[in-house]
Amino acid sequence: MKTILITGGAGFIGSNLCKRLIKDNIVICLDNLSTGDMTNIMPLLENPNFKFIEHDIINPIDIEIDEIYNLACPASPVHYQKDSLQTLKTCVFGIYNLLELAKKYNAKILQSSTSEVYGNPLIHPQNEDYFGNVNINGPRSCYDEGKRCAETFMSDYHKQYDVNIKIARIFNTYGKNMRQDDGRVISNFIVQALSNKEITIYGDGSQTRSYCYIDDLIDGLIKLMESNISTPINLGNPFEYSILKTAEIIMSKIETKSQIVFKKLPQDDPIKRKPDITKAKKELIWEPKISLNEGLDKTIAYFKEIIQ
Ligand code: UDP
Repeated sequence: MKTILITGGAGFIGSNLCKRLIKDNIVICLDNLSTGDMTNIMPLLENPNFKFIEHDIINPIDIEIDEIYNLACPASPVHYQKDSLQTLKTCVFGIYNLLELAKKYNAKILQSSTSEVYGNPLIHPQNEDYFGNVNINGPRSCYDEGKRCAETFMSDYHKQYDVNIKIARIFNTYGKNMRQDDGRVISNFIVQALSNKEITIYGDGSQTRSYCYIDDLIDGLIKLMESNISTPINLGNPFEYSILKTAEIIMSKIETKSQIVFKKLPQDDPIKRKPDITKAKKELIWEPKISLNEGLDKTIAYFKEIIQ
């Protein structure tokens, strides 16, 4: 059995990954519980192969492990902008500490990077060779530049110390274990519709996103860890929807009295986003299998259960 460290393991993606990997491995779940939630991992705590450590990756840690998945960082714009310096430190100091750990124990390390490294993209769809269009000093910079710097740390540890690295550029993902107050578009619209509150569209709703269901993403992350690919790879679902269309689809699935309201578009909000997943299809033999229709049904069922 391998010993796998999952940082951010109590969060949305991390907790889904813990649940999957615990089947065949010893899992050490580490989280500072800033946006992660113990309820996400509660069912795993009884498993003798599961261990939870409350820790912030900004500070070094020494545990003997075979693999590291770094999912530690708030990923919703609302949450990562609340304490932008903490976000920047989590990305940069965090990956430095984890790369030192990987180097010490000769462990593989997977970094959860993001489509945000492409910023407000000037090419469409975005492939891995695109360098991006990122504001250095804007409200999203702490996350975008933090994640970009983390990728550089990863590739330079690979070059200088031969650390075995994997970089997943994750596009918009949704599903079970998202927080009710996550703030991102799918969870906001579902929670608003279920509680008959206004559906808040920022701008005119013509901006686009492409949504991947969590189970597909988890498959992609595990395949990437098992591959020999050390260059960045996009993981996401290439079906693209405008935000207005997203609201309409969600409202058609929920009996609701909610009405759409239009709010101000946040600064530097990317106008369009869609992954080019040619590389993942060819090199990982991976592509999403779950349609938005099916993924939304599962996610709505999840939120119906947790909403008070
Ligand atoms: N958005 C929106 N209403 C909301 C939440 C988000 O219109 O209640 C828009 C947001 O402005 C962006 C898109 O939905 O254009 C996706 O936002 P999200 O916060 O999910 O993540 P992003 O892809 O921007 O990181």
